[in-house]
Amino acid sequence: MGQQLDTKEVIKFTVPTPFPVGDVNLYLIKGDVLTLVDAGVKTEDAWNSFQEQLGAIGLKTTDIEQVVLTHHHPDHVGMLDFFPEALPVIGHPFNNPWISKDPEFFERHTAFFTDLFTKSGIDPAFLNLLRKVESPLRFSSHRSLTSTVTEGDRIAGLPEWRVIETPGHAGSHIVLYRERDGLVIGGDAILAHISPNPLLEPPQNNELERTKPQVQYNQTLKKLLDYDISRVHTGHGEDITELHSLIHKRLRRQEERAFSVLEMLREKPMTAFETCQQLFPTVYQKELMLTMSETIGQLDFLEELGEIKVDKTKEYFVYHAKS
Ligand SMILES: [Zn+2]
Repeated sequence: MGQQLDTKEVIKFTVPTPFPVGDVNLYLIKGDVLTLVDAGVKTEDAWNSFQEQLGAIGLKTTDIEQVVLTHHHPDHVGMLDFFPEALPVIGHPFNNPWISKDPEFFERHTAFFTDLFTKSGIDPAFLNLLRKVESPLRFSSHRSLTSTVTEGDRIAGLPEWRVIETPGHAGSHIVLYRERDGLVIGGDAILAHISPNPLLEPPQNNELERTKPQVQYNQTLKKLLDYDISRVHTGHGEDITELHSLIHKRLRRQEERAFSVLEMLREKPMTAFETCQQLFPTVYQKELMLTMSETIGQLDFLEELGEIKVDKTKEYFVYHAKS
């Protein structure tokens, strides 16, 4: 890396969230256009905290000229609702149905998970839990993107930064990469202290098959190895400076978890729900979406590797280890 890492033009803010993940980080880029990357949750606590921190450096929320979203999750978009209507909001097109709370999309969302979880062997009584998915949405926003970006794009007013698509944790996920010094604003693509969950999502339209978020996430991690990245400003917690070793560690850990699932399937073939119950006996009821995403993620990974096969001839999908 020829040039010294320049972090002065990027200012970090940390605001509270009501979620188990804790605080979320936002970043202000003092480019040609004053740009906020990510927008916290929609709570008074978050908004007051953000205003205070901005005030301490002599700025007001109305000074912010555009917002870039790393992904659509409520803890990264909610405060959009507190900004003036006219504020430009930029992100991957896949953010839109989530951040605008598109009713047609959420109908499809419910239908998708009802179908997927039924095929996964979930007791119909548990399907009520799907309604819980909607509760974090009250901390989300009711906005639409004003412009969209995809792989390789540059954003108005930020000529030094490039968009890298990083799906897995969310289908809408992007990071911003500054070539000259290898600085990345990374959202939840990778975190220093925890492994972000690849989450199941309905496909963007009915014609498409569902994505395999764990497989996608591993591809994202491997893709990031190809860039000369010196530091990652993360969405939660501390910066990452040793990205390569962390990526290798995360990929290793995930493979270990997948192979423990393979051992379970060698004992007996199971549905995804039975696998989930065995993997997360104490939390699967409380965290059905998270634990099923994790379980189906490991199963997708093993299927891609050719270690297991899925019997789709029964009422439920049954996963078998190949002998
Ligand atoms: Zn997050």
